[in-house]
Amino acid sequence: MSESLHIVCPHCHTTNRVRSDQLASAPDCGSCHKALFTAHSTALNESAFDRHVARNDLPVLVDFWAPWCGPCRQMAPAYEQAAAQLEPRVRLAKVDTEAVPALGSRFNIRSIPTLALFVGGREVARQAGAMGAADIVRWVQANTPAAPAAPASAT
Ligand code: ZN
Repeated sequence: MSESLHIVCPHCHTTNRVRSDQLASAPDCGSCHKALFTAHSTALNESAFDRHVARNDLPVLVDFWAPWCGPCRQMAPAYEQAAAQLEPRVRLAKVDTEAVPALGSRFNIRSIPTLALFVGGREVARQAGAMGAADIVRWVQANTPAAPAAPASAT
């Protein structure tokens, strides 16, 4: 038995339905035919952000950053490493708060970098300050108790 999940394409932002047991088999977007998972984060503008956060059945991790922020640039490679480790269970996105100031103010981002985790359209956790890849992965796992793609654990 496998459930079907809504996965928003990181390229064209179309919502795809993917069976959870196919998540790990490099599914393609039904609309633009590019890979739904690229082991890289996805840069989002405001409308794309809303689609990803509202329509993904995956948790969405967002890095609020800006090009002038040294710690943000330092964290960027670690964030990409975390993307490679967390996909396809989590979608990693980036919001440039200088290019998209509306999102920074909507979420009241006071300092950057700030990581925010969204599950089911709702922010469930937030962490300010740069982190290494292993810390990002641990923090996300600690804040996503039931990853949709994970096999049900016998408790
Ligand atoms: Zn697509």
